[in-house]
Amino acid sequence: MRVCVLRGDGIGPEVVESALEVLKKVCQIFNFDLELVEGIIGGQSIDKFGEPITEETLKLCKSSNAVLLGAVGGPKWDDLPTDRRPEKGLLRIRKELNLFANLRPVKVFEGLISSSPLKEEVVRGTDLVVVRELSSGIYYGEPRGIFTKNGIKYGINTMYYSEEEIRRVVRVAFKLAQRRRKKLTSVDKANVLEVSKLWRDVVNSERENFKDVEVEHLYVDNCSMQLIRRPSSFDVIVTGNIFGDILSDEAGVISGSLGMLPSASVGERYALYEPVHGSAPDIAGKGIANPIGTILSVALMMEYSFGFEPAKKLIEDAVDETLKEGYRTPDIYSRGDKEVGTKEMTQKILQKVEKLING
Ligand code: NAD
Repeated sequence: MRVCVLRGDGIGPEVVESALEVLKKVCQIFNFDLELVEGIIGGQSIDKFGEPITEETLKLCKSSNAVLLGAVGGPKWDDLPTDRRPEKGLLRIRKELNLFANLRPVKVFEGLISSSPLKEEVVRGTDLVVVRELSSGIYYGEPRGIFTKNGIKYGINTMYYSEEEIRRVVRVAFKLAQRRRKKLTSVDKANVLEVSKLWRDVVNSERENFKDVEVEHLYVDNCSMQLIRRPSSFDVIVTGNIFGDILSDEAGVISGSLGMLPSASVGERYALYEPVHGSAPDIAGKGIANPIGTILSVALMMEYSFGFEPAKKLIEDAVDETLKEGYRTPDIYSRGDKEVGTKEMTQKILQKVEKLING
């Protein structure tokens, strides 16, 4: 398998290096053939080529089975015009690779359970994925804008979905649920919005193709409450762009730290894996970034792109064991923990991988 590596800016290169060490280790253990190719993106690409992503890098991504990205952006490039900023590189890659679904897993590790803002008994066992439609919906619908009519200003946005746009993301979610605990929650606002009625119809029609998956429909307002009341009861949640934007951040906070969260953006052919956090310029180069979000992104890659559940489980178990022993980067440190930097945390996780395999 070929993985295109885009280290990016700020702490991107530091956390990607950690994730690659773990990826190489698990590939070696399971005899997986791994080829790494390196591309350049974001501020690094602007400095070298004057644009946030080059055709060369896009080609590399398209010739790979998966892309692993660190993060892009930083104060050095903040004053550039919007279309030349580092973040444009990410938007371009998502568009070129047609990545229409965003996967945001949230797993509460036993070793870090006290970091959650929710009560331990509520969050224990939480292991869910929010699947958000990424390329359509109200953020892209036309007409949009601010208009003046009879001297009064109006702001307009349009929530829009074609049946096909709904179907393809819903299928991603059903397939994911089939590989997990076989439960799908579809979130909409079908009591008010026509676009949600269509969403619900499509989900119901797809049920025929995934008979082993249990389906529940929730209105978005109810779902936002249930996520706090009973997060551990969810498996896969699928929803449109704007609802997913909000619910994935709400779900993310349950785990207790931004540095712990992985993500994937997937399409029919390509998939890109990255931590949820940004380039964290305030701590870049200090060797203290939490690498776990990127390491768990590699676990997600093993599961989603390569269908290899045991490798995913091994990585997650190694992370959990390391946390249980009290090792913490500063962002998740509490008094009494063992404070470590990025490299030491990575070494501890690698040692746990070894130990879990060799006993
Ligand atoms: P951020 O996620 O980079 O940082 C927010 C806070 O969380 C900071 O205090 C940071 O130190 C901390 N943090 C983040 N990740 C951490 C980690 N792994 N370990 C320890 N601490 C961590 O968000 P921001 O400060 O709003 O943005 C900084 C830059 O990143 C901006 O240029 C922004 O545009 C960019 N950004 C990029 C992406 C991406 O590449 N996908 C996403 C978000 C923001």
